Amino acid sequence: MSTQTSQPAWRVLLGYVRPFRSVLVLGGVLSLATAAAGLALPLVVRELIEGFGSGAEISGLLLVMTLLVLTNAAIGAFGSFLLERTAESVVLAARRQLVSRLLWLRIPALDETEPGDLMSRVSADTTLLREVSTQSLVSAVTSSLTLVATVTMMALLDPVLLLVTLAALGLAQVVLGVVVPRISRAAKVAQESVGTMSAALERALGNLRTVKASTAEQRERDRLHDAALEAWRGGVQAAKWQAVAGNTAGLAIQLSFIVVLGLGGARVVSGAIDVATLVAFLLYLYYLMPPMRELAHVATQYQVGAAAVARIQEVESLPAEPDESAAATAVETTPAAVAFEQVHFRYSADLPEVHHGVTFAIPPGGMTAFVGPSGAGKTTVFSLIERFYEPESGRILIDGTDVHSWSLAELRAAIGYVEQDAPVLSGTLRDNLLFAAPRASDADLDQVLAVTRLEAMISRLPDGLDTVVGHRGVKLSGGERQRVAIARALLRRPRLLLLDEVTSQLDAVNEAALRETIAEAARTTTVLVVAHRLSTVTMADRIVVMDTGQVRAVGTHTELVAADPLYAELATTQLLANTDNGGIA
Ligand code: ADP
Ligand code: MG
Repeated sequence: MSTQTSQPAWRVLLGYVRPFRSVLVLGGVLSLATAAAGLALPLVVRELIEGFGSGAEISGLLLVMTLLVLTNAAIGAFGSFLLERTAESVVLAARRQLVSRLLWLRIPALDETEPGDLMSRVSADTTLLREVSTQSLVSAVTSSLTLVATVTMMALLDPVLLLVTLAALGLAQVVLGVVVPRISRAAKVAQESVGTMSAALERALGNLRTVKASTAEQRERDRLHDAALEAWRGGVQAAKWQAVAGNTAGLAIQLSFIVVLGLGGARVVSGAIDVATLVAFLLYLYYLMPPMRELAHVATQYQVGAAAVARIQEVESLPAEPDESAAATAVETTPAAVAFEQVHFRYSADLPEVHHGVTFAIPPGGMTAFVGPSGAGKTTVFSLIERFYEPESGRILIDGTDVHSWSLAELRAAIGYVEQDAPVLSGTLRDNLLFAAPRASDADLDQVLAVTRLEAMISRLPDGLDTVVGHRGVKLSGGERQRVAIARALLRRPRLLLLDEVTSQLDAVNEAALRETIAEAARTTTVLVVAHRLSTVTMADRIVVMDTGQVRAVGTHTELVAADPLYAELATTQLLANTDNGGIA
């Protein structure tokens, strides 16, 4: 996937955090307040100890102390809850944004990615935004403030000793400058490997029957183990450099402690400063340690977050379709005319051309069969009508106007499309049927179930239309799946019905029934069918014969048998066989 990061990671991160900034500030302030209140505790203890002698105030002071501790705990808990809640909100916002992108992804972009990898970006990478966008952000601010305050105090005590300290800290900075980019690279490797692993997992679990039938479990396991190992390597590499980064700050302080001790001693001897100043300076030097450590930690967390942001940004930069689904209702109901004019098309720039000037014109209504050898480009015709892909040149017209003059949603609302090997989605049978037409009435549903001959099957199911099918549900046979897919498309009441090899898995009885359905639909809709069965093809009003990306001939069965040798051959040989199992489809 391309790495097009348009904005620096910190900007993107701040963008995620922005909507929650007031909660974040409140959470940060409360967390700080509890830390400050902790500082007041020793004072109370001192009062308490002083009170031992007098004996009077003890119980009151103990009560105050108890209240202080309780309040502190409550405020602290609330503060950190606010921070964690904000962190979860950031993850939620990032996930929603990604999902909105993914569902509108253009099909060619999807062709070039692994769904499993995309899934890992939504599920895993977003969680890495959690810490960097809240906890780290708050501690970056508080640690910087502490650092500045401490350094100011040191400057007031002795500017010369401060210079020595700053030199040591500068050295630490140089080390961090080398180490931190390595953390970033390692984090990216780890996260990419998680993506690879998800993709491999999807491939193996999504095709477990094929994996088992091919006795490929061990090989698939090795692939998954390798991907997991790669993620481990990235994690270990990142941990190594994080360990270095985390201890560099402490080391620099301890080194400068030694130097300050030596140089400060000399300055005491020469009378430049007194001993008390040196001691105070050394104490402040130790105060520098926690904020320095914290800042180094924030820097490493930021690298991990930045790697996640880069992977999320890659998804954001994939080409997407505009969101027009609000307008997705077909207004017209008349059958549509479809025409291709000199369409040239290739699936991607580095692949050979698939359509070499495809041209045909289909009047509204009736049934048109597309026939031709496998690979001729028939399915591609349907994909182009749906505008899943754009032709390189030439025009696709519906009712005489270019498909580009419709919005995608309007165009697709007019079409019922049953793809080759159309899937049954997991969910109930009703969900499946209403998927393309959520507002269809029960009467429409009954009618469509009747014409697709699904009633008998449904009445045999335990919960009828509410039976869960697909993954983790009742499995349907190939022919049943096809009929469910056809019913789904018919319920949409399309102006144009595209059926791609829908008869391939039907037995003779069901195929005959489907022919009736098609004939019925062709009275009110333009029906285009990719078919291999002679029985289906011969009933067509016209037949478009395709071969190697071109239209060879258009005509009726009788005309074509006489005029087109390829068609005549298809009609007499196995390609257009009339038997149940003879079709190549
Ligand atoms: P048919 O439906 O007539 O069997 P297709 O339209 O599916 O043929 O395919 C035509 C050609 O385009 C084939 O050579 C096929 O390999 C290629 N093709 C189909 N889909 C894709 C795709 N998504 N990416 C790249 N090439 C494809
Ligand atoms: Mg096909």
